[in-house]
Amino acid sequence: MGDITSLDTQPMSELVCPECATPASQREVPPPWPVRRRRLVQCAALLIALGYVVWRNIEAWPVLPTPVVSSSIPYTADFPLHRHTRLDIERYASGELSDGRFISDLLNTDLFSNYELGVTFLPPSGVATEFQRYGWPTTIVLYRYDAKYDDAYAKTNASARPSSFRNGWWGWDYISKRIDASGRRESFVFYSRGLAGGPLMLLAAWGAGRLLRRIVFLLRVASRDGLRKRDRLARRAPVLCVVACAIGVTIASLRPQIDPGYAYPSLVNPVWSNTGVTAADVAQLAKEPTGEAVLAQAILDATPGEASTPDTCLAFGWRSEIGTTHTDGAGGWPGPLVHRNVGEQQSFEALGRPEVSLTFRRASVSAIVHWSGPRERTAYYTLSSHSTASLALGLCAVWIATGLGVWLVGWTVRRRTARRLARGWCVQCGYDLKGLTGAAEATTRA
Ligand SMILES: [Zn+2]
Repeated sequence: MGDITSLDTQPMSELVCPECATPASQREVPPPWPVRRRRLVQCAALLIALGYVVWRNIEAWPVLPTPVVSSSIPYTADFPLHRHTRLDIERYASGELSDGRFISDLLNTDLFSNYELGVTFLPPSGVATEFQRYGWPTTIVLYRYDAKYDDAYAKTNASARPSSFRNGWWGWDYISKRIDASGRRESFVFYSRGLAGGPLMLLAAWGAGRLLRRIVFLLRVASRDGLRKRDRLARRAPVLCVVACAIGVTIASLRPQIDPGYAYPSLVNPVWSNTGVTAADVAQLAKEPTGEAVLAQAILDATPGEASTPDTCLAFGWRSEIGTTHTDGAGGWPGPLVHRNVGEQQSFEALGRPEVSLTFRRASVSAIVHWSGPRERTAYYTLSSHSTASLALGLCAVWIATGLGVWLVGWTVRRRTARRLARGWCVQCGYDLKGLTGAAEATTRA
């Protein structure tokens, strides 16, 4: 290292630290490499986290349960979403009514196309299930109401049996059930993973605000260091976007989303009339202007003996002579991530390529792979928005935490350097240079 005697004769500016040979005039140290390569460190951390998520998901993947095989599909009675008396259907058939409500109540695109529509007229007594959801973009709280009613449409005289279900945490969800004041069984579900949606939206708003600010500066609509109102506004764009998003998310989350759900008759085995109309026919008729009237007439023709009593209403069901095999399974980490549901008709043979489509629903995104032909197969792959949102937020947290950690290292180094400078120590290693400078100064003075 440095030779003390030679140091003595040197002017102060050329003084070097005897410990590490750093010139005493050096005022800063180069930041450690993670600080210089912050993005690289963040990407590496993200990749490791992503790898972990993939590994956990592969590990959590379920062994699919044994398929459910049915040799044929019998009618299962359902009430349409709206009450349709025979009189109403006559009005649809004559064209007096054509609001699309009747056909959309019977349209079901999830069915195999050769399923046959059966109808019957029944008193409206039945069991109904309704939903009310809170939380946006992901559901945080769900209320589900189940009850048996004298009139499943008017919801009169509700009654329900208490559930033997244990109230408490079920995985990531808190579930509690009770009989409410009106006699319905209320199921309250708190989806803890649903809380991830809001913060994700705020992060997206922050990113959008920064992008907006960059564009505004690039287009010279506002200036980075101007004093005009628009300049100040542009500089605050990310914060403003986050505030606006927080207000929007809060309002949308507090607004209840009512889902009318479904209802079915109390009478389990009614007398059915086959309309000769298939699920594919209904889908085709839904596209035609007079389709609704044609469907209504087909239903009337199939049920000539039914009296037009106002206290009975339409119930419907689907059946098929062809049996099916159903496989249903869900898996993933940190909660069910992908739900796989496959339905295949007996002696199905893949002819040509399947049709792939995407559907977006509130709580999920589904990819549907459908093979058509004389025998059909439909596979649904549904991605849970709850699990996806919590995973995405977790990965964002890894990115941000790594960025903050690296920033903290840089900050610590800068603070240490400032302290060493103030005390007259070597910036690189903290060796006390005061004595040396004193000696140097003494020599110069002498
Ligand atoms: Zn040193």
